Amino acid sequence: MFTQTWNRDHYTFSDGFPQAQRENYHPLPQPPSQPPYQPAPPPIPTESKPTLNSSPSTPEPPGGLKIVHLPRDCLNRFLTIAKVNTARNRETCGLLLGKDRGSKYVVTTLLIPKQHSTSDTCTMDEEELILQVTEERGLITLGWVSYASSCFMSSVDLHTHSAFQRMLPESFAVVCAPTSVPNFGIFRLTDPPGLGLILACNAKEAFHPHPDSPIYTDAERGHVQMKDISLEIVDIR
Ligand SMILES: [Zn+2]
Repeated sequence: MFTQTWNRDHYTFSDGFPQAQRENYHPLPQPPSQPPYQPAPPPIPTESKPTLNSSPSTPEPPGGLKIVHLPRDCLNRFLTIAKVNTARNRETCGLLLGKDRGSKYVVTTLLIPKQHSTSDTCTMDEEELILQVTEERGLITLGWVSYASSCFMSSVDLHTHSAFQRMLPESFAVVCAPTSVPNFGIFRLTDPPGLGLILACNAKEAFHPHPDSPIYTDAERGHVQMKDISLEIVDIR
């Protein structure tokens, strides 16, 4: 049975970010006046680039990605759901499901799967129940969200996310860390070089260093945009 594990590194660091993670992190320029922020991947031969109805004030998504609309209250609602686990010093994870609307993807549903967790891990259980929800509702998995103590992608997070992004280039990871600054991040692997590098990594240890490359970057202010749209919560725990 497929089981997905989210895990956080135990690093000692003085300024909010472990050095190894900072070196792999490739932030967008602020403000993002010069998109795209990474080399564009080769065009996808099977489909033409969609025409996006972007206003002049809306930055173009990078690399030919479709825009993803994420309900603005999603993170607060997830934190409310996570509160019970948080009080017990346990992580919580969820899946962000949605629809393909042609020129964009729209997150419509926050699914809280059956899971077991510790203070720094969250593992989804009974994937067949997740598939049942997605198939019954005609939803696709657009991303995942986890509650963590710090706002960065651990090496385990990077490997977890590579499986999502390999299936759908627009996939993104949300890390909520209310007690840290910044208190949340929306990330994706760079492509190139991040996605290929992680997929090719055969390290046996769960936590391990990666080459000093810009492996992941912000998806917010990239192709993920917060919108005032409705969100359905499906909690199957
Ligand atoms: Zn690795």
